Order: sequence, then C-alpha cells, then structure tokens
Amino acid sequence: MKRLFAVGAAGIAALALVAGPASAAPANHSAAAPSLKVATVYFDASGAPTFYNQILAGVSHWNASVSNVQFVESPGNATLYYTEGNDPAGSYAQTDGHGNGTIFIDYTQAQEYDQVRITAHESGHVLGLPDDYSGPCSELMSGGGPGPSCTNSYPDSNEIAEVNSMWAGGLAPSGHPMQRIYETQH
Ligand SMILES: [Zn+2]
Repeated sequence: MKRLFAVGAAGIAALALVAGPASAAPANHSAAAPSLKVATVYFDASGAPTFYNQILAGVSHWNASVSNVQFVESPGNATLYYTEGNDPAGSYAQTDGHGNGTIFIDYTQAQEYDQVRITAHESGHVLGLPDDYSGPCSELMSGGGPGPSCTNSYPDSNEIAEVNSMWAGGLAPSGHPMQRIYETQH
C-alpha cells in the first residue's frame, strides 16, 4: 500500500506541474476591473462626405476595442470634426489628444492607403496616441510606415491599454495644447 501510494502521489505531483500554469491563466485575465467612467467624444463627419462610411468604420473599431472612451456621431455638440481635401503635406489631426480637434483626410493619401486605416489612425491621435511609423502593421499608429499594403484598421493590445489608461479619468481636459500632427509618410 505504501509503495502504491508513493507512486500515485508522484503521478499527481507531475500532473499538477503540467496543469499548474494553464489553470492559473484564466484567473489573471478575469482580474481586469470593469470601467466605472466612460467618456464620450462627439463627432461631426459632415465635412468629409467622401469618407463618411470609412469614418464610421474607423471609430467603430475603436469603440469595439476600448472601454473608457467611445465615439458617438452627434454634429450638434461635436468636439471633433472630420474634413477632407488636398494638402501637399498629407492628412493630419489637429488635436489636444483628448477628444477635441479636426481630422483632415488628404485625397492623395486616401488613394494610396487603406481608407479605414487612415480614419482609425487619425482618430487614434484624437484619443492621445502619437505616431509610431517604425511599428508593425498590427499597430494602428504605425500609419503609413508598413506601406500601402497594410490594411489593418484595429488598434493592437498595447494601443488599447494606452488609450484606456489615458481616458481612465474621463473627459477632463488634457491640458495639452492643440497641435497639428501631419502624416509625413507618402
Ligand atoms: Zn499619425
């Protein structure tokens, strides 16, 4: 009996070693606290009629990804305006990085790069994210860096975490000045 028990215990111990890390993983994932404050960024897309559907798609990808801030179309009380036209310097976001400003979509860039990626990328600036052109296509803020073949229009997990962190306090002003961020990669 003693011998059988010893063998059995060793078997259980070995099983526990294998199963240990796998069974611990779900506990870590469920530890994320639910958000108490969700800020809303109201926008007006009427100034960019050519890209209206792409704008709605871009903001919907943010809305599906982040929990502390959401975009809502509401021209009457908008703080964010989408516009379109020709600018030799390319598309830009002029923003305080906290829900206020203007996004300009350049026709030439829109013909070269994925249009939903452009609108989602520019909206990312309005949420406070900087450019990271050397990043991979899986990043939204790598923008034109990975080239025109990159059509990803969703933020990656790091970008989602950054935005949720920056918006954890709600819509309170960032205190950052308005600045114009041009997309310099053509
Ligand atoms: Zn950018």
